Amino acid sequence: MLVTTIKDLQILLQKVRSENKTIGFVPTMGALHSGHLSLVAAANSQTNQVVVSIFVNPTQFNNAEDLKKYPKNLTNDVQFIREDYPNTIIFAPEVAEMYARGEIRERFDFEGIEKVMEGAFRQGHFDGVGTVVKQLFSIVQPDKAFFGEKDYQQLAIIKKLVTITKQPVQIIACPTEREPNGLAKSSRNQRLNEQQKQQAGIIFEGLSEMKASFSFNTQASSLKQLFKERIQAVEGFDLEYIEISNQDTLQPVECFTENTKYRAFAAVYVGEVRLIDNIALN
Ligand code: AMP
Repeated sequence: MLVTTIKDLQILLQKVRSENKTIGFVPTMGALHSGHLSLVAAANSQTNQVVVSIFVNPTQFNNAEDLKKYPKNLTNDVQFIREDYPNTIIFAPEVAEMYARGEIRERFDFEGIEKVMEGAFRQGHFDGVGTVVKQLFSIVQPDKAFFGEKDYQQLAIIKKLVTITKQPVQIIACPTEREPNGLAKSSRNQRLNEQQKQQAGIIFEGLSEMKASFSFNTQASSLKQLFKERIQAVEGFDLEYIEISNQDTLQPVECFTENTKYRAFAAVYVGEVRLIDNIALN
């Protein structure tokens, strides 16, 4: 079932709730791939009624060109979900439906998580994410919402968001789906040519090499250097950042201490296309 207005969605969801069914929610920006579908599968196995939103949220883009070029194909997306999960409710609102009072970004204090990595390079991005997800949660009122570890920093932001807003939704983290060469599935991959797609496998190879080289005695800078060298060796690839952070606070570190979990995070331009990925180091 495809709905485009908040009113129609809420009529459907009232019925679902009156039958005492639980609601699982998967927010997306469309151009769906098997990574998104793995979230729908998890939602389907853990709740009675799945809602997928498809909305390219303008307030989370800091770059007008990136927003303009973001791939869109609602007809394909609806078909793609229906093939495997025909009972899914798909909510695909227009911008004016979500931002009736204009495209205003709410401001949040995510206790520093919003200031590093994606937050540092994409000004206002996480305020935009917080704005739209808070609103989507209040419209859908899901029992559980499913997010990918592919966007690990976003996942941390969403967990913080629900503690700030006190919205009673459980956040479920889902593992990253990858291409056979390790490239994390992403809607943005559609903008890569075949050669770029093949070469982009080095992003995950580089992260995996950092993981293999990790020990508590190593320095973050020497692990990051391994990654830099790999990316710099490929023409047309441009490293925006490689960072190693405490997995919980997401604050970058230089030295490692035992009993702490670390993760490496990267953003790489492949031609004009900006790709991100991350890996647990220990
Ligand atoms: P997006 O449409 O890119 O905003 O992503 C919607 C949701 O799908 C987010 O929770 C993403 O983290 C998740 N997602 C995107 N790519 C993947 C992937 N390769 N594996 C698992 N989840 C993903």
